[in-house]
Amino acid sequence: MADSATTSTPSLRAAGMRQTPQREGILRVLRDSDRPLTVEEIWERIPERRSGLPTVYRNLERFMREGWAESVLGTDQIMRFVRCDSCHHHHHLQCERCGRTAEVDACGLDDSLRNLESISGFKITRHQLMLFGLCGACRAEKDR
Ligand SMILES: [Zn+2]
Ligand SMILES: [Zn+2]
Ligand SMILES: [Zn+2]
Repeated sequence: MADSATTSTPSLRAAGMRQTPQREGILRVLRDSDRPLTVEEIWERIPERRSGLPTVYRNLERFMREGWAESVLGTDQIMRFVRCDSCHHHHHLQCERCGRTAEVDACGLDDSLRNLESISGFKITRHQLMLFGLCGACRAEKDR
């Protein structure tokens, strides 16, 4: 119940970014969606569209560097973007039936990674992992 929970929009200014209507719009669109969105879908939903798709894309890249968003490659090979709530290392799950995503603020891979390091001789510094399956609602519907 922290006070900051009411406004989950990351602070553009704190990250050294100029606060523009487009940047705020993109963050709001990502926050309001429970599904990953393509650049076009984000662009269609923001009120500030004067600067076009390339700017939206550049802003998304910047947000990804800040850890506010992640890209997800769908089975259709289309890149979509999802917001990140956690500032810690985390993973996303996506329902293959309805497309909804959820975030887990945990990893659980430490042992497996150490094992992979000893097999490969690599020092693993980061990893990305997207988990796919059926969400609770879709599981319930399937069982009916
Ligand atoms: Zn994320
Ligand atoms: Zn689902
Ligand atoms: Zn992890």
